[in-house]
Amino acid sequence: MSERTPDLCAAYGCPLMGVHGVSGKWYCCCHFNANPGLNDAITAELHRNKPLVDRAMALRRAGVAHGALENELVTLTKEIGQQRDLTTEMEAE
Ligand SMILES: [Zn+2]
Repeated sequence: MSERTPDLCAAYGCPLMGVHGVSGKWYCCCHFNANPGLNDAITAELHRNKPLVDRAMALRRAGVAHGALENELVTLTKEIGQQRDLTTEMEAE
């Protein structure tokens, strides 16, 4: 049972949409591949960059995956979460 909105990232408090499935949970571009012990730090950084997050979410809700914008969010959180680069699948036409 989960009280979480199903389309949101599984990391606690994360404002982004979960788009990468891992073991039955869905994570956003920033928490996917990230060190789980650093999830809260990544979430805090996302809240500090709310304008970018809001833009990414508005596009996601419209059914659009904006690769460049989401890569920007990944870049912002990469040094915190130590995750790998996003794959290029979203940039393919
Ligand atoms: Zn997330």
